[in-house]
Amino acid sequence: MSREIYELSSKYGFFNRVIIFDTLSSTQDYALEKGERGDVVVARTQTHGRGRFNRKWYSPRGGLWFSVVLKSNGINSIEACLAVLRILKRFLRNVGIKYPNDIFVNGKKICGIIAEVRNEDAVVGIGINVNNSLPEFLNATSLKEETGKEHDTFALLLEILEEYERVMNMSRKRKIGEFRENQIILGKKIKVQLIKEEIIGTAVNIDENFNLVLIVDGEIVKINAGDVFLID
Ligand code: ATP
Repeated sequence: MSREIYELSSKYGFFNRVIIFDTLSSTQDYALEKGERGDVVVARTQTHGRGRFNRKWYSPRGGLWFSVVLKSNGINSIEACLAVLRILKRFLRNVGIKYPNDIFVNGKKICGIIAEVRNEDAVVGIGINVNNSLPEFLNATSLKEETGKEHDTFALLLEILEEYERVMNMSRKRKIGEFRENQIILGKKIKVQLIKEEIIGTAVNIDENFNLVLIVDGEIVKINAGDVFLID
């Protein structure tokens, strides 16, 4: 497996090196198995990219597919979400977070994030549709589709890593505030698919523990997992 390695001298030292593969089965699996804290594992294409619950993540060439290894803090994926969001906002309007950690533009998914824990570390996988094409049946879009031009994926990666460090250094209160303000689901009727049940209610808040607060039949219900769908 040929790879390119770049040492990083990042400002706050959270990221030490970028390892770029042309093809990997999954950056997430590689990082979980071999990554060290501070590594950023990138693949130009993944043959078995995956989302949560082993769902297939389409990773054709032209996209930005990477996983980072960080000290686990329980909110690594939320920080990743904020970092990607801030960078995408430089190019796009109408971009927001769909709880818990997808980024949507004009109702379509542009980025998916997954966080898995390995001992004291968190391995956070970030997939961003940049210049790649996508299967028609996915409710998805890309940066190229939204802006009408191609983007440099490596430059985008470096911008995200820089922003990710900035976000990690923010106060918890600011992280919650920004995570809340940018939700696309607050005030809307949603369906939450949990492992054993389905809940329908109105999303009203993100609380201080990053839980989603819903009103279901007049009662307050809090959730911190599950799939969220907007209902029109
Ligand atoms: P949902 O998309 O329903 O909110 P989820 O948040 O669990 O699900 P992930 O686990 O992050 O999503 O990603 C897997 C899902 O994302 C797949 O089931 C598919 O619907 C969608 N998907 C797969 N590849 C892409 C892609 N390149 N861009 C956008 N969406 C994708």
